[in-house]
Amino acid sequence: MNMPTGRVLLVGAGPGAPDLLTLRAARALTSADVVVHDGLIDPAVLDLAPNARRVDVSKRRARHTLPQDEIGALLVREAQAGNIVVRLKGGDPFVFGRGGEEVSACVDAGVAVEVIPGVSSALGAAAQAQMPLTHRDHASTLSFVAGTCQGLAEQDWTGLAGHGRTLVIYMGVATAQLIAEKLMADGLSPDTPCAILERGTHDDARALRTLLADLGDAVAREGVRSPALIVVGAVAALGTATDVLNRLKAFA
Ligand code: SAH
Repeated sequence: MNMPTGRVLLVGAGPGAPDLLTLRAARALTSADVVVHDGLIDPAVLDLAPNARRVDVSKRRARHTLPQDEIGALLVREAQAGNIVVRLKGGDPFVFGRGGEEVSACVDAGVAVEVIPGVSSALGAAAQAQMPLTHRDHASTLSFVAGTCQGLAEQDWTGLAGHGRTLVIYMGVATAQLIAEKLMADGLSPDTPCAILERGTHDDARALRTLLADLGDAVAREGVRSPALIVVGAVAALGTATDVLNRLKAFA
């Protein structure tokens, strides 16, 4: 009797541009029997697994995302059936990717699991916009936070932004105005530089720069859409981002 060879590979697909996939991730895709992926994965990346069955967990049940515990159960079931399962996630699996929950689901079920890191979107988008997230003259501390609505008010961000610090906010487009108010209530100056990095690493990416007091308005005015990141701190004034505050002044 053959021993079952099924296992789960949790793979970071990188920030968007397919050639930012790691060689290890590409190799994992080539070996996959099943690819379980989110939305926003470039077709060129999925094409690296031409013979694998694809399961898009972002499009199930009339567009409602499959609940996290069901994703875990799916990975376990497929691996126990003897498949090499690639769980493909945007950016890095362990940066706001729920990778920890999926590793636990596998470990609890006794299924072998491996994690392959990916370029997180903050790193990809910042590179494209030539915006160093740390800089000896501007910032020696870097924090990543989630700006989702749920629990935003309870999150303690004190000390994460300000002089010498860079704060990168994931999932903050819809809450940009609240985020700006929260940071100013924490004592951050309204003229702290901010950048919005939309669709980072894609050909149609936009990098916009303004000041904290204008952040919410800028998101609305410029029609910023998810996926996008918000960078708060002196480094946001560096790089190639377009200054949308001056653009506003020019038309005033
Ligand atoms: N694991 C992912 C993050 C998942 S959370 C990573 O490491 O990047 C989803 C959030 O990531 C989005 O709301 C957005 O804030 C950010 N994001 C993902 N892709 C992006 C991109 N190409 N450009 C800018 N932000 C992106």
